[in-house]
Amino acid sequence: MDHAQRVALVSGGGRGIGAAIAARLVASGHVVIAADRNIAGLAAPPGVRLVACDVGDEAAVAALIEGVRAAHARLDALVCNAGFMIRKPIRELSLAEWRSVIDTHLTSIFLLVRAAEPLLRAAKGAVVTMASTRARMSEPDTESYAAAKGGIVALTHALAMSLGPDVRVNCISPGWIDTQGHELSARDHAQHPVGRVGVVDDIAALAAFLLGAESGFITGAEFVADGGMTRKMIYAE
Ligand code: NDP
Repeated sequence: MDHAQRVALVSGGGRGIGAAIAARLVASGHVVIAADRNIAGLAAPPGVRLVACDVGDEAAVAALIEGVRAAHARLDALVCNAGFMIRKPIRELSLAEWRSVIDTHLTSIFLLVRAAEPLLRAAKGAVVTMASTRARMSEPDTESYAAAKGGIVALTHALAMSLGPDVRVNCISPGWIDTQGHELSARDHAQHPVGRVGVVDDIAALAAFLLGAESGFITGAEFVADGGMTRKMIYAE
């Protein structure tokens, strides 16, 4: 065990944006643990240790952080990224479904940071949370997801005030990020002011910056990475 090596924990790190962040943190010299709820069938990037954990579950999160403490005795970077969307009309959305979305996105951050606070403070670490442009704009039938993401933006600045000056806490709000390698149309790309749909490395690069020393003057902030879509007026003419 090398206690001098920086350690990172990425929730939802087994696929998509989380896996790209995990891979980038390995490349920058971190030991990386990726916590995902279903790890069977997931192929972690080289150097990433996959751990099964439902991050909305209090006991599971406590066990996860205790495992990090026991194995590595430090935590420098925490990326709260796990999430999923339920898209259905509110009249069909059960309370259990609402709670599952809020628990996975929002309550998980409370649970992870609460459990990891001593390790993060000791390491003078940093936290990145994953919100969405849906914190600020919506399509129909996305209430639980939008509410969770709006909560993440607010929870981020609250945590930044409570954990500073030891620990910085920042939030990324991605727009459309292609995680599946789907066939995308010219129109999909062209509607973005930057001329393309986002890729996972767009978010991984920003997360790495926010976790690193070069962002040392930044905390409590939300970074929108959406190719300009939330700055674009879309009134029909
Ligand atoms: P993916 O579905 O590709 O990856 C998310 C991972 O989190 C999956 O492996 C998922 O498991 C896991 N997960 C879900 N719930 C839990 C839980 N309770 N405990 C542990 N792991 C869980 O999603 P993305 O990479 O696209 O998204 C990552 C984050 O970025 C999410 O928070 C998402 O809301 C946010 N985001 C994504 C955007 C995009 O366009 N891709 C845009 C804006 C925000 P499983 O597969 O079993 O569900």
